[in-house]
Amino acid sequence: MAILGSMETLSPRDVPLGGLRAMTVRRTLPQRQRTFIGAWCFVDHYGPDEVATHGGMVVPPHPHTGLQTVSWLFSGEIEHRDSAGFTATVRPGEVNLMTAGRGISHSEYSTGGTTLLHGAQLWVALPEGARNIEPGFEHFAPEQLVGDGWRARVFIGSLLGADSPVRTHSPLVGAQLEVEAGSTLRVPVDAAFEHGILLDTGAVTVDGTPLVVNGLGYVPAGQDTIEIVAAQDARLLLLGGAPFGEKIVMWWNFIGRDHEEVVEYRAQWQRLIEGGSSDRFALPVSDLMPPIPAPALPNVQMLRRG
Ligand code: MN
Repeated sequence: MAILGSMETLSPRDVPLGGLRAMTVRRTLPQRQRTFIGAWCFVDHYGPDEVATHGGMVVPPHPHTGLQTVSWLFSGEIEHRDSAGFTATVRPGEVNLMTAGRGISHSEYSTGGTTLLHGAQLWVALPEGARNIEPGFEHFAPEQLVGDGWRARVFIGSLLGADSPVRTHSPLVGAQLEVEAGSTLRVPVDAAFEHGILLDTGAVTVDGTPLVVNGLGYVPAGQDTIEIVAAQDARLLLLGGAPFGEKIVMWWNFIGRDHEEVVEYRAQWQRLIEGGSSDRFALPVSDLMPPIPAPALPNVQMLRRG
């Protein structure tokens, strides 16, 4: 964590995604000092990567529980296929929200036509009342809002007069913001929300504090405006929500509430991919690749965080 002025900034760490050709992402959430921003609990930011050099995204079928995944691209295309029967092409400026609920599996492959892959993969933790709902998938292409020196696409929740219809289960917001060099965008926000601001490109200050490229600035609850001043053309993601208020165990691709739950999720996934049956998971139909086995469990009790 770097303290720049008054804003806490979460610095990214490089994480290989795994799979055959390991693509590397920049992870800013979770961190040792911060598990959540609202219900946002996972922020992976990647690219721009030349697919010819880096191999693109090759993530065979793997499971999720207790969360929603939010895919947002700046360039390239990803083919999504899941066990609830949805297939979709993820495209720049369009949100794809997958609700894992009680259990889903999916695969993600960048398309053959993709030369440059650049985007973010985000997770939202589901609250107690929604974490065991049936899995689902939603797609939404937000209209571009255009103001004086700025543009925005609101993909989750409500911001700048726009509303996203995709279903979330706690108060949340997510938007792409672009601010031109020399311009200021004052974003009215819900004062009950905490926010994270990921700087993808350009140079900005947020409430007077410089934000480093690829860093996630943290704005605590209690303010009704966030001021973004661009020194260079900038593109950002604004993520916010009401403080989550529940503790979770997050391990591999699972979110549960205690160690034993996560052990059960893992056992069900392993049973399924070894040819047995599972009442929680299924596989995407006619996937291109075999499913990913879960890693070995840690030797210690997994602790609740948040
Ligand atoms: Mn996934």
